[in-house]
Amino acid sequence: MELAEEDIVNIENAVAQGGDIWNNPLVANFKTKVKEYYRDFENEQCCYCKKNFQGEFNMVIDIEHILPKGKAEFRELMFITTNLNIACKRCNMKIKGSKTDFVFDINNSAQNHMDSANYRFIHPNVDTYFDHINFFQHIENDKKLIKYKIVANSEKGKYTYEYFKLNELEIDSINQAQGLVEKAEFSEKIDSTIQDRLRQAFKNI
Ligand SMILES: [Zn+2]
Repeated sequence: MELAEEDIVNIENAVAQGGDIWNNPLVANFKTKVKEYYRDFENEQCCYCKKNFQGEFNMVIDIEHILPKGKAEFRELMFITTNLNIACKRCNMKIKGSKTDFVFDINNSAQNHMDSANYRFIHPNVDTYFDHINFFQHIENDKKLIKYKIVANSEKGKYTYEYFKLNELEIDSINQAQGLVEKAEFSEKIDSTIQDRLRQAFKNI
């Protein structure tokens, strides 16, 4: 992606100011550009689990630092766009965080951040995801089929599947009943006495 001179100067000034650089308002425009660029690049999907972002606000999408900005040795990559992508909060915050266990050799990784061979998982910018994992999603009314298939025993595919616990996202309610809540059962869950109390609470304020 291309950066304007203005973006670069803003980043330089934010870094010079120190503190919470990533959340400095000076870099807000840069962050919007990154999200726009990578939403397009990823066809509106999380770079790790392929969750669909179509129609979502930018707010619910995180900018992902592949080598994490929270680690001192990778701070210099904070605004290097080839180290960035977009991810869902589950993959970015809950699973990946500031971990670096997906890198083989931590020592040279800041200098060679685009070296595919140094990453145990599928690097969203250097590797081609679908060479390692095929992703299937089919939704029919409220029934879903979501499935990940490792391509040709790919080591990176297997590692990525395990690392991001993609099995937790798989479902097949199209081909099998999964104990879905019956509509009638749901409506009876809150009986009228409780409903009255919950409504009454608003009348006393
Ligand atoms: Zn994800």
